[in-house]
Amino acid sequence: VTTAPDRSGGSGSGRRGAARERAERLDAADPLRALRARFLLPEGQVYLAGNSLGALPVHVPARVEEVVRRQWGADLVGSWNLHDWWRAPERVGARVARLVGVAADEVVVADSTSVNLFKALVAAARMRPDRRVLVVEPGNFPSDLYVVDAVADLLDREVRRLEPAELPGALAAGLAEQLAVLTYSHVDYRTGELHDMAAITAAAHAAGGLVVWDLSHSAGAVPVDLAGAGVDFAVGCGYKYLCGGPGAPAYVVVARRHQNAVHQPLTGWTGHARPFAMEDRYEPAPGITRMRAGSPPLLSLLALEAALEVFDGVDLAALRARGLSLSRLLIDFVDAVVPEVEVVTPRQDARRGSQVSLRHPRAYAVVRALIDRGVVGDFREPDLIRLGLAPLYVRHVDVVTAVEALRAVLDAGEHQQPRYPQPHVVT
Ligand SMILES: *Cc1c(COP(=O)(O)O)cnc(C)c1O
Repeated sequence: VTTAPDRSGGSGSGRRGAARERAERLDAADPLRALRARFLLPEGQVYLAGNSLGALPVHVPARVEEVVRRQWGADLVGSWNLHDWWRAPERVGARVARLVGVAADEVVVADSTSVNLFKALVAAARMRPDRRVLVVEPGNFPSDLYVVDAVADLLDREVRRLEPAELPGALAAGLAEQLAVLTYSHVDYRTGELHDMAAITAAAHAAGGLVVWDLSHSAGAVPVDLAGAGVDFAVGCGYKYLCGGPGAPAYVVVARRHQNAVHQPLTGWTGHARPFAMEDRYEPAPGITRMRAGSPPLLSLLALEAALEVFDGVDLAALRARGLSLSRLLIDFVDAVVPEVEVVTPRQDARRGSQVSLRHPRAYAVVRALIDRGVVGDFREPDLIRLGLAPLYVRHVDVVTAVEALRAVLDAGEHQQPRYPQPHVVT
């Protein structure tokens, strides 16, 4: 089922016809409309979960097969040199660099976001040994909260959970003298709110602290200017908007000015200055390479490398404009057609990432019913319907189809059916 039946008739259907026409006009005039053809998307489905698992680029299956059959199968251990497997983490990092606004040698791809956050937070906290407080936003992604607590425990520091809005007051009330490291997500995974990276970073720096930004829900959809904001460290996810595939490795950014002062805690051999000397004592490699720990997951890493080609030639400002146009249309259409559902995501363009979150008391069942109608979003506790708008491949007409499906689900009471009782393991 690609479009929902219209059950309300009358003026409602007229408004909806107008919305579809508006969407078709926007798609026809969209300078990035050709990008969707770079992806394999299931026929008849509206995929709005690209902020959870990005879609599969058309060229990736053949590239993965080449890596498996030729590099692994035929060239075997010689591939470390022949196909430069050894430097792949830095090489793929250099591709991520443009998406996050840093130089090619300031990013390395390794491990998961959670692990990179641990490495970056310990490294940053060690650079501020006389300051006690680590700041994180309440409601941040679970790993981010847990890792901050673990780092505080390990290094005998203290955690304060502060909303960005609470930060200026807290700094003025004495936090400024104690702030070691502040870590926030650029875009809130639940609400889709985009935080003011430049202003928050400047406030932390003015107090003498360092910052670690989590870009998991922004990079690849929202232009990120880490260098412009003077950010110290950042981490982010490879499998959401970057489309690297399930479990793709993550990345970690260290500003060049800090790199040779960094002591990260996972001192594995691939981050050593002379890995093949096999020395008994650890000595960190110069530059970003010291953020590596053990061997990279090459099949996933090279799939991510191939996937990142979907960004080739893509103007990131235009991509952002497209993302905002999609989310604006979604919000407008929800307001008009499903007014009983609350839009949680900020309406101001500058404060919105590339997803729209809607609040509904039976959000989980609504999401399941939408999926059964071919509109794939996801549910987040306690009552949020998340609709991700990956600007590389979501179209304006998809937004209209999704909102029409939502209207139809609610009109028919599909979400009240007993077949949607308990959340799945992965929601
Ligand atoms: C997706 C996401 C992660 C994922 O962490 P993994 O360790 O890669 O599973 C971490 N932080 C945020 C903010 C995320 O959105």
